[in-house]
Amino acid sequence: MRELLLVRYGEIFLKGLNRPFFMRALVKNIRESVKSLGAEVWLHDGRIFVADFEDMEACIARVTKVFGVHSVCPAIEMEKEDFEAIAAQAVRMMDGLQGSIKVSARRSDKRYPMDSPAINEELGGRILDACPALHVDIHHPDHVLNVEIRDKCYLYVRVVPAVGGMPVGTNGKAALLLSGGIDSPVAGWMIAKRGVKICAVHFHSYPYTSDRAKEKVLELARILSESCCGIRVYIVPFTHIQMEIHTKCPDDYGTLIMRRYMMRIAEKCARLEKAQALITGESIGQVASQTMEALGVTDSVVNMPVFRPVIGFDKAEIMDTARKIGTLETSELPYEDCCTVFTPRHPATHPRLDRAVEGESSLDMDALIDEAMQGIEIVEV
Ligand code: ATP
Ligand code: MG
Repeated sequence: MRELLLVRYGEIFLKGLNRPFFMRALVKNIRESVKSLGAEVWLHDGRIFVADFEDMEACIARVTKVFGVHSVCPAIEMEKEDFEAIAAQAVRMMDGLQGSIKVSARRSDKRYPMDSPAINEELGGRILDACPALHVDIHHPDHVLNVEIRDKCYLYVRVVPAVGGMPVGTNGKAALLLSGGIDSPVAGWMIAKRGVKICAVHFHSYPYTSDRAKEKVLELARILSESCCGIRVYIVPFTHIQMEIHTKCPDDYGTLIMRRYMMRIAEKCARLEKAQALITGESIGQVASQTMEALGVTDSVVNMPVFRPVIGFDKAEIMDTARKIGTLETSELPYEDCCTVFTPRHPATHPRLDRAVEGESSLDMDALIDEAMQGIEIVEV
């Protein structure tokens, strides 16, 4: 007899020919997430198991964050031949609970001498005899004792909901433009949840932005990496480009030209990573650079899809998600972002592409981008 975790995954994605591919990715990601806790992860009989951990709650906390996991059940594994021992364990697990119960047996080993209704009835009777505080309600039970008869017998009551989504690495790769703000970590999380591997690109304007601002971004990447199975962060020196824009370009197009530079450099990083798309945390109308026209002017410099998963969210909705995924508190730390350092007083809200192109024409684009690419620092989190 031993304690282990039964991991449940989204059945829908795992049917058909792709099933082994999804399963392998999911097992690999779960294994990575609990490696430092010394736990073992394996796949057997269509189920994923986690065992040999020292701290079960720490293990549950990690596994429930892995995309593709829908719930985690702490279970007791027993030899199925000894029904008396199973019944005694069932009583131990239900003893002390209040209210209504149901026993739900599943027998995938059809040679087992008792069928599911017989197991339900027998275990239910034993539990009621031993625990007078409980009664049976098969439609709306307060507690369900699940009994699975496979190679072994598994008993569990507690089901801990997990994040859901698809295993990271099964749906391509994208580069996230990660600022220290609230929106971009949420955007990255939403895309990664669909199974997309993420790398991050952060523009840093030292000395206008401090090392603490950079640390904050790395901490956001670290929080995301708990679900995203590791993130490579490209830290791009952006000061020279911003100074050039500030001194040589029309003030009202400054932010937009800066964003065009960010997109060009992010696309280069994405190509280095063999990523197929960019992700930003923009939402329509949130600021001047996020009007429809501005987004069009920004997009026109890149040749890959740009995903903006929070495009239709209100700030309050984005904040709710940030709270749920654990990034809000870090995002709200008050360190300056490079965008705010050179913000123009009157940004164009209905910019025109020809004016943006004209406005940036005095810059030596290739040289500036090369210089930024040369200065990139890469951090694995
Ligand atoms: P956020 O809360 O994500 O910072 P925001 O409301 O501050 O968004 P902007 O500053 O206009 O909006 O940035 C829009 C998007 O551009 C961000 O969501 C992010 O994807 C990207 N971005 C902005 N600043 C940076 C930066 N310093 N490094 C990398 N990406 C950035
Ligand atoms: Mg920002």
